[in-house]
Amino acid sequence: MPAAMPRFFLTVLVLVAASWSPAYAQRTQLKPGWNTFSPQQDIQVGKQAALDAQRQLPPCNLPRADAYLTQLGKKLVAHLNTGGTEYPWEFHCVNDRAINAFALPGGFVFVNRGAIEVADNEAQLAAVMAHELSHVALRHGTNQATKAQAAQFGVGIFGALFGGSTGGALLTQLGSFTAGGVLLRYSRSAETQADVMGTQVLYDSGYDPRAMAQFFEKLDQQTKGKNPPEFLSDHPNPDHRVERVDEEIQKLGGAPPNARRDSAEFEAVKREVMALPVVKKVPKAAAATPTGNGPSGAPPAPSPNFATYQSSGYTLQYPDNWKQFGGENSVAFGPEGGVVNDGSGHGAMAYGLTIGTAPQQANANDSGSVLTNATQQIISELQQRNPNMKVARQPQSVKLNNEPALSTYLSNDSPGGGQEIDWLITVERPEGVLYFVCTAPQNDFDNYHKTFNAILDSVRFSH
Ligand SMILES: [Zn+2]
Repeated sequence: MPAAMPRFFLTVLVLVAASWSPAYAQRTQLKPGWNTFSPQQDIQVGKQAALDAQRQLPPCNLPRADAYLTQLGKKLVAHLNTGGTEYPWEFHCVNDRAINAFALPGGFVFVNRGAIEVADNEAQLAAVMAHELSHVALRHGTNQATKAQAAQFGVGIFGALFGGSTGGALLTQLGSFTAGGVLLRYSRSAETQADVMGTQVLYDSGYDPRAMAQFFEKLDQQTKGKNPPEFLSDHPNPDHRVERVDEEIQKLGGAPPNARRDSAEFEAVKREVMALPVVKKVPKAAAATPTGNGPSGAPPAPSPNFATYQSSGYTLQYPDNWKQFGGENSVAFGPEGGVVNDGSGHGAMAYGLTIGTAPQQANANDSGSVLTNATQQIISELQQRNPNMKVARQPQSVKLNNEPALSTYLSNDSPGGGQEIDWLITVERPEGVLYFVCTAPQNDFDNYHKTFNAILDSVRFSH
């Protein structure tokens, strides 16, 4: 890598110079960390999660507030280093009095009314938003997901993203807002980075950068009360938060004397937001729990009209009101709202179909057919990830598009509460054993059985 060498030495020289002489003091340089996602996948994952978030969170329904947040957000984005990626920035006001804000990968920003109400001026609101925008630019959400998945599945499998047997489920999980457990579980070092970059963005946008530290001091005061601000559960407080922000301001040359602090528009929006009726919060678990075919929680019934999915190995038809997640090696289909919080902050598929290919087993000494062995292997892998999963009906011979296949029924805890049924169909193909997992809560399974059957009946292998 000869081309990289001069830059490396240059960096070392600059760092040495900076540490030796205060005259070289300059802003902290920050870059995104290890990430197996592409920035385009940040947008894809974030967009899905944002749709899910919008479905779950009460909107302020104040066009003026949304327009104001968008205008302020874009003013800050103009001074944000995204490494050249154009994110589709969206800003939403949420009718929730908890002091919080969050940004999903790809630039989908949600600001609670509580954050607007607690801010003393526009600069403090800009500080929270600059912090959130920095999480997007530094790609902290998918960086966390990269680390979490590597720990769970190993880098090799995850490197292919959708290549592993868990791939479809992976994107399904990340695409749900309830997967915030992964996408918004920032480390303390990520928090410090967002503070530092956010301070730089404030400074470059003409705002008083001290607003960043002031906002955190306000949060600290709230923490001493009964209910610590929600912001701190998503954005854990790093040590010396305020000091680090002050240090960065010094590196930038101090707070500019004419820095902007407030605006008439901020005060007007704050007044409107404060006058909003308070929306009672539905507990997250309750909001996500499917309740049969009832109007609340359960996803809409499968459409009788079907869309076509085509991979290199097969085609199938699925209800046209279901979404497709992932693709090619591992793909999942499910209704809007079919992914729910599993109780630990992770998304899990409660309704839908996951399709994948089990890697070829090297062990050829086992007795029994390839299909039987591979099916047992798939079941035991599923059981490792779902300790309460049990075989409800042993594998039985069936046909899938005239090919010999095995049908196995499994029971498991449903992520939305109660029990679910996982209907597993396995079939041997040239590229490995293809598996279909049809999932629905037990009390809803009969309603979905017909749909799953129709999907499986429509499968056509292309070779
Ligand atoms: Zn944060």
